[in-house]
Amino acid sequence: MKIDLLIQHGRLIDPASAVDEIADVWIHDGRIAGTGCFSGKAKRTIDARGMIVCPGLIDMHVHLREPGQEWKEDIASGSKAAVAGGVTRVCCMPNTQPCLDHAGVLAQLAARNQAVGLVHLHPIAAVSKGLKGTELTEMRELAAAGAVAFSDDGKPIWHAGVMRKALEYASSFGFLVIQHAEEPTLTAGGAINEGWVSTQMGVPGMPAEGEDSIIARDIMLTRLTDARYHVAHISTAGAVAQVRAAQQQGLKVSAEAAPHHFALTEEEVLGYRSDAKMSPPLRTEADRQAVIEGLRDGTIAVIATDHAPHHEDDKRCGLECAAFGIVGLETMLPVSLMLVREKVLSLSELIAKMTVNPARLLNLAAGRLAKGDIADVCVFDPDEQWTLDRNRLYSKSRNTPWHGKTMQGRVRHTITAGKLVFSLPEAS
Ligand SMILES: [Zn+2]
Repeated sequence: MKIDLLIQHGRLIDPASAVDEIADVWIHDGRIAGTGCFSGKAKRTIDARGMIVCPGLIDMHVHLREPGQEWKEDIASGSKAAVAGGVTRVCCMPNTQPCLDHAGVLAQLAARNQAVGLVHLHPIAAVSKGLKGTELTEMRELAAAGAVAFSDDGKPIWHAGVMRKALEYASSFGFLVIQHAEEPTLTAGGAINEGWVSTQMGVPGMPAEGEDSIIARDIMLTRLTDARYHVAHISTAGAVAQVRAAQQQGLKVSAEAAPHHFALTEEEVLGYRSDAKMSPPLRTEADRQAVIEGLRDGTIAVIATDHAPHHEDDKRCGLECAAFGIVGLETMLPVSLMLVREKVLSLSELIAKMTVNPARLLNLAAGRLAKGDIADVCVFDPDEQWTLDRNRLYSKSRNTPWHGKTMQGRVRHTITAGKLVFSLPEAS
């Protein structure tokens, strides 16, 4: 019998199984059929010499824009961007139009994703109906329809009473509540971080306290309700310190960091560069170092992109009115590899933050490469240097701060459920 696909002679890194060795991985019927030394015949072989072979990446923070804003992104283009970045599981945020606040829209999303067929799609459903922040959604029904967590991302759950109710309800069923941590009465009108850059540029800022104060409140409510609470795109030193302290007290508090928050600082917006405008904003060097330390000591268990595609028209209109957000799926891995080069994390620790760690938080049977597992695999060259050209992104949108920058590390092949869904074109 010939197996479907053989990935030969790569460096297999599977953090969940504590594996880091040169080995073959073979795949049959959509599943990992074995790892080690393969001696049979395969229908197709990938030579992975010099490459890293790891579980397909899981991005737990993606804005796919479908339904409702398909000119920015849709499931097809977002999936192509994902697999080009080695991502095989996409968790999509609920701030679409209509938003993901009822089971019917989740069913439509699942059908659309099945037709595209490149990634596993795991919706994160809304906490509040219409993302209005007042009335809770039917969380159990949404979980039954496939929601893996709950968030009003794009907006904070700003109302303390609603947050308490959401956490109480989530706590009874073990659901994860994800907060876009921003106190709107402190950040209203702000475009970038509040500090010397905003002062010098004369652009209204968003203080770090806008993030820190709502996390302080939420941690109190997490203690009250014994719920599982997750801070999205953590960006300040104060936030990292609070999450660390809460974890030390045994609270079920977790956090994710986006690559831009540990790779870039507020100075990136000098010159009114709207492709460096996002929420939360790029912060100071001290904040960036605190996020890196949080990643190093495990306070921040997950790296996620906050992939937020926007059309040029929404970005090229002055820093103050430009939309918040950047695309990230195609740059997550190369940008994050800086943490390995700077000896903050081992390669295995880094991969864990994009595979098994988010899988555990979201209760997904994924992020691992053991025999019998669904064969989601990423094959990448950790050393290849290349120049990012925003016009060659698979995403429909071009809003990246890394245009023209040298990236180190490049995805060569991506396999979703045993199917080769991406191979880097030759000579690119
Ligand atoms: Zn957000």
